[in-house]
Amino acid sequence: MPTRPHVVILGGGFGGLECAKTLGRADVAITIIDRQNYHCFQPLLYQVATAALSPADVAWPIRHILRRQKNVTVFMTEVTGIDGSGRTVSTKSGSFRFDFLVVATGAIHSYFGHDSWSLVAPGLKRIEDATRIRRSILSSFEQAELAEDEAARGRLLTFVIVGGGPTGVEMAGAIAEVARQTLKRDFRRIDPRDSRIVLIEAGPRILPVFSERHSDYARKTLAAMGVEILTATRVTGCDARGVDLEGARIDAGAVVWAAGVMASPAATWLAAEQDRAGRVIVRSDLSLPGHDDIFVIGDTAAVADAAGRPVPGLAPAAKQMGRYVGRLIGARLDGRKGPPFRYRNEGALATIGRRAAVVELGPIQLKGFAGWLFWSVVHVYFLIGLRNRFVVAVTWFWSYLTFPRGARLITEVPPERLPR
Ligand SMILES: Cc1cc2nc3c(=O)[nH]c(=O)nc-3n(C[C@H](O)[C@H](O)[C@H](O)COP(=O)(O)OP(=O)(O)OC[C@H]3O[C@@H](n4cnc5c(N)ncnc54)[C@H](O)[C@@H]3O)c2cc1C
Repeated sequence: MPTRPHVVILGGGFGGLECAKTLGRADVAITIIDRQNYHCFQPLLYQVATAALSPADVAWPIRHILRRQKNVTVFMTEVTGIDGSGRTVSTKSGSFRFDFLVVATGAIHSYFGHDSWSLVAPGLKRIEDATRIRRSILSSFEQAELAEDEAARGRLLTFVIVGGGPTGVEMAGAIAEVARQTLKRDFRRIDPRDSRIVLIEAGPRILPVFSERHSDYARKTLAAMGVEILTATRVTGCDARGVDLEGARIDAGAVVWAAGVMASPAATWLAAEQDRAGRVIVRSDLSLPGHDDIFVIGDTAAVADAAGRPVPGLAPAAKQMGRYVGRLIGARLDGRKGPPFRYRNEGALATIGRRAAVVELGPIQLKGFAGWLFWSVVHVYFLIGLRNRFVVAVTWFWSYLTFPRGARLITEVPPERLPR
């Protein structure tokens, strides 16, 4: 058992990892618990789902990232509960006592009470989700090539993306490029360019967190790429053959869910007050009310910025919270108090295909190719490790010139998707 104060961090995502790194020189013993052995760069998962990048380009083993930080021990197991008063975390592999606890278990998809839709409309959160979506999209083209009748072919070449936020827009643009460019010469009986790609958004416009000007630009750019956009349209049902809308039906070969997220069940573990998205309502120092030594950060925490607006579920916000809590724990150990958490808005970015993006970063407002260049540099910069930066930069440069998508492999095909 450690004699130094024991900091247990739940989750090796953006928030948890940043917190551990910030405590790199502190005289504490840190335990990171994550149910997967890797840290995933979620902003580029859609490129794995659409075969532009491979899983290893966007994910790194957590213990490798922290291999030089001697005060950290990493355990791969799933958290199942927290006893705040008893200062204990329960996992599938036993329990861990803590002096300080940092809960950074992120978010999961929300199907708004229709959890069964997840079986047919996968969301994008983990590497497994990305490879499942990739398999589902590529298998649809394969099955369309085998289909004997026009109706079946039409259905299999229809791709529906539910949710017009950045992930939905990025997926729609990337699928359009796969169909119209990458695969255009690969088949004999079908023409992938005939594919129908439909982006469905319940609100009045896509990219609602961006300005109307950029939202409109994204709509026009996607439309020029052949994406149909249905706004103010609610999905009322999802099944293995498509989606139901209010008063309409779209048969589809693959459906991707990008419509909502919900915090991990930390509020339940902690019996804490939560907001509508299940996020734990924390104090201004990100601690749990009544528990000075338990902190909740990142997508799992509900906290307001200086203007009273909720801090968004974004990677920079999670990193800022992780860094803040790391420093606060360090200060507490030195007998000092820390200032309240202050969120610094680092802007919003979204790509539309491989040569356009919108960027809103204070005075930096970009769209089109300039936006895409900015987006690319930022994403390569934030990737972990020189190898990944190099591989991703070269892949993007090559893809900019030629449109290939090298990771077009269909692996682990479930029996119902095997061609008959
Ligand atoms: C597809 C997609 C695209 C995105 N694009 C962008 C973008 O372009 N820009 C941006 O800023 N943000 C983007 N985001 C949001 C950003 O990724 C999140 O805000 C950020 O990851 C939150 O960090 P976090 O540390 O709170 O959680 P995460 O990074 O999600 O980490 C949570 C960790 O907790 C672990 N965990 C969860 N439950 C358990 C459990 N029970 N037991 C053990 N471990 C557990 C998980 O395995 C994971 O490693 C995107 C998110 C998604 C899903």
